[in-house]
Amino acid sequence: MRVAVPREIKPAEQRVGLVPAGATQLVRDGHEVFVETGAGEGSGFGDDAYTAAGAEVVDRTTVWERAELLVKVKEPAAEEYGFLRPDLTLFAYLHLAADRPLTEALLAAGTTAVAFETVRAGRILPLLQPMSEIAGRLAAQSAAHHLQSNAGGPGLLMGGVPGVAAAKVVVIGGGAVGTQAALMASGLMADVTVLDANGARIRELTDLLGHRARVLMSDEHVLEDEISGADVVIGAVLVPGAAAPKLVRREHLGILHDHALLVDVAIDQGGCFETSRPTTYDDPTFEVDGITHYCVANMPGAVPRTATRALANATTPYLRRLARGPEQALAADPEFAAGLNTAAGRIRHAGVAQAFADLP
Ligand code: NAD
Repeated sequence: MRVAVPREIKPAEQRVGLVPAGATQLVRDGHEVFVETGAGEGSGFGDDAYTAAGAEVVDRTTVWERAELLVKVKEPAAEEYGFLRPDLTLFAYLHLAADRPLTEALLAAGTTAVAFETVRAGRILPLLQPMSEIAGRLAAQSAAHHLQSNAGGPGLLMGGVPGVAAAKVVVIGGGAVGTQAALMASGLMADVTVLDANGARIRELTDLLGHRARVLMSDEHVLEDEISGADVVIGAVLVPGAAAPKLVRREHLGILHDHALLVDVAIDQGGCFETSRPTTYDDPTFEVDGITHYCVANMPGAVPRTATRALANATTPYLRRLARGPEQALAADPEFAAGLNTAAGRIRHAGVAQAFADLP
């Protein structure tokens, strides 16, 4: 199989779909690997590292033309649609239900598209989880930074010091993001509370976090009590397949400390605070009624060296299976097959089909 890795062209995207160690494995498996010049640069992997791994470093057109199996991070951009073909298998984050032009382009080209975000493993989405873990840890780290006065914050040290109270951090939603946010905040010695609405998850979290955090079942009253005393509120809820519920509403801003910081990690699903709107690292915060909101929609983008390795750790075993033959790999594993979004001009995923009932 010819496996190819283009350089990402989405603005500010510095991750890459394959690390040199993955190229080594694929070459040992008997495949040919083609990597676009400079593809790994933003993640700390030079062309020479891929060459040493046995890959061939080539230009952009060649990488797409040679590809039988193409692995990248983000969905193809409009200028890449012309490279799509019926004998190509694409493996990447696609988010097709929110992207009609790309869905139409994949169907018109007859490309087999396997989306990272819909591959399943039991209750988890294993190719989405590493980015949630990164966003969770970053949420606590970014909150600590934005509490400092040199970052425009109120001048609080997250962990306090002996004799002076630590910041109170409330994490709403104790899944992949919320768990890592809680662990990181408690590592910074903050006073941490996690709220979740799922009884089974509450029990798991209580075991996992032990004395590092209080874990409470969320309802409207508990939520109001907890956020009213908080220095930092981290929003990390997810209702699969739905927009995030607006758990902190505008009228709640009046019960917060006037220096409170809201970090809405769920902003990529619309946000779980009513007053959130997406921001970027260029201008990450804004104020509503005097309350600072931090709503960066692509938090892992700031740590491409870590994010690329975390993503590759999760994706490379699946990539090796696809390289042995996509049809057989998917047929053998229904949870992997949940990643199949389009093939031979037809939508193959229920969520995407629901979004575009008029498409084949
Ligand atoms: P997850 O499914 O692992 O966890 C979500 C948790 O929210 C679950 O434990 C669930 O029980 C809980 N929950 C649902 N409704 C709730 C409610 N009403 N009150 C309290 N808890 C509730 O999801 P995740 O992977 O942790 O992702 C969380 C959010 O972060 C998602 O919207 C995801 O897209 C987003 N995310 C954002 C970034 C970013 O860069 N901004 C990066 C990664 C993930």
